[in-house]
Amino acid sequence: MNRRPAILGGGPAFGEGLPLVRPILPDVPGVARALESVLDSGMLTNGPTVRRLEEAVASYLDVRNVVAVSSCTAGLMLVLQAVGIRGRVVAPSFTFSATAHAIRWAGGAPDWADIDPTTLTLDPASAAAGTDGASALMAVHLYGTPCNVERLQKQADAARIPLVFDAAHALGSRRKQRAVGGFGTAEVFSLSPTKVVVAGEGGLVATNDGGLAETVRIGRDYGNPGDYNCLFPGLNARMSELHATVALASLQGLDARVARRNELVERFRSAVGGLPGLTFPTVDPGDVSTYKDLTLLIDAGAFGLGAQALGAALRHEGIDSRRYYHPPVHRQWPYIGEPPRRPLPITDHAAARVLSVPLWSHMRDEQIDRLAAAIVAIHAHAEPVAQALEARGEVLDRR
Ligand SMILES: *Cc1c(COP(=O)(O)O)cnc(C)c1O
Repeated sequence: MNRRPAILGGGPAFGEGLPLVRPILPDVPGVARALESVLDSGMLTNGPTVRRLEEAVASYLDVRNVVAVSSCTAGLMLVLQAVGIRGRVVAPSFTFSATAHAIRWAGGAPDWADIDPTTLTLDPASAAAGTDGASALMAVHLYGTPCNVERLQKQADAARIPLVFDAAHALGSRRKQRAVGGFGTAEVFSLSPTKVVVAGEGGLVATNDGGLAETVRIGRDYGNPGDYNCLFPGLNARMSELHATVALASLQGLDARVARRNELVERFRSAVGGLPGLTFPTVDPGDVSTYKDLTLLIDAGAFGLGAQALGAALRHEGIDSRRYYHPPVHRQWPYIGEPPRRPLPITDHAAARVLSVPLWSHMRDEQIDRLAAAIVAIHAHAEPVAQALEARGEVLDRR
């Protein structure tokens, strides 16, 4: 059945609205009681609940050390500072800005490398072109898709530099059965509200290197080892007991949520299967992605509308979307002064085509079906939709 897109006068697919993300906490009254007991205890930050969270995550990941911090960004800054970056850090531009900002705050300069055209994660061959003389290699498990960790590790080893993963999206992802979290020198997760495990705000540094973990522990506490004679300029990047309480609750049922997200993605993909000009980033066979985002790649010529126009048409349906990640970081204000040392054709190609659409762990089959049907209908009416958007001045460039 072919419904009429809302921008052409049809009823919106989601009159009630469909947000991009909605975090879920399994047991809200239980969390409220736990928060009450934290408040009663008088110990509000970096106490026993933070310790319990660190232990729970270390055992879930099978990693020796987990250090809870106030955000993934702060965790990345502390890790990069601890491994002593200086000068260039090879990193992808096709990521969230915080990946690059952490490099800058820690005193380094991003040296952009391109991505793999299928997984959209850092391309090991492109990264290898920059590792000579660089001080670290940084990669991102984008959307929860595990990186090619084996090849990246080989390149880091060959250049004798640390390999740090921005694992913000990937708590619950697996590379060849093994949990993301134990790869490289360190991996850093985010617990901010758009991620699959949430604390409100928070981050987790996972590492098998005990010395590095200790430096991050000191670093999250201003650089104070305990005697107020600071060892280096640290941050206040502690996690509060309140945030740790929420995170512990959110950790419950993680594998089931990841499985449900994968099921929803499969369902969506078969519902839109075969639409011309619509493809998806891939996950290597045998790997598990959290699908932090459900991201589409839209080829304007074949689909009939570009990613921006599709996003605008979806807004009329009550459907939220984001361009994760457009513009790529190297084209954002803090970084445009220093052009990439190598061209980034795959990054630019992907950034021009991405659109992330709603996906949350407790979405119903019916909602994902309706989302898919809205996209099918917009595609079926692509030409009049494009004209309507142009007439309204909502989309200036159809590509
Ligand atoms: C969300 C995100 C971050 C930042 O996480 P915070 O916990 O908000 O600091 C870093 N990198 C990527 C790829 C992200 O998506």
